[in-house]
Amino acid sequence: MSSTTLEKKGREILFQYLEKESFLNRYVRMEGFEEDCRLCPYYGKRWSCPPGLPDTCSYLEPYQSLCLAALKVNYPEAVREEAAKDAVRAARIREERYESAKKELLLKLLELEERIPGSRTLGAGRCILCEHCAREQGKPCRYPLKRRYSITGFGLDFGRMLKDVFGLELLWADSGLPEYDVAVAALFLREKM
Ligand code: SF4
Repeated sequence: MSSTTLEKKGREILFQYLEKESFLNRYVRMEGFEEDCRLCPYYGKRWSCPPGLPDTCSYLEPYQSLCLAALKVNYPEAVREEAAKDAVRAARIREERYESAKKELLLKLLELEERIPGSRTLGAGRCILCEHCAREQGKPCRYPLKRRYSITGFGLDFGRMLKDVFGLELLWADSGLPEYDVAVAALFLREKM
């Protein structure tokens, strides 16, 4: 299976079109994902995330196919060395390079939704449209028309998708930053590809 890659300033975006039914059969986790979500510091604090999300298969029932997109943000060695010295600096670099790229990806997918009637995005992790989600204050979402559910919050096996579809591993760093961070989002389509 070959994917398409776009590269820009230390970022790569990889795309792959897939048939929805086989995608769900392979990647929906039937067990354990809710427990994993509870460990996330954003559990119950983002309207894009559990608890309270619709059932995955019912929500995606109208769609036939999808374009899976992996966003890979590379951290050059000099940047990693700098990040390893200072956790606050590392967090700032990640915010500037990775979180902002995730937001751009979401906005691009929302643009595509407008051009492709009936399409729907699942976002790369928690919603990052607002600095502080209204859910933290028990208030309704500020932008319900733009908010999209998290692909991982829907129980889709992120690590397995990455490896199978794009040949990428999830990386971690004991301190500072890994060689790259990677996020996955998807645009679901009504037509078969
Ligand atoms: S749009 Fe804002 S209020 Fe709504 S889920 Fe996203 S972060 Fe929360």
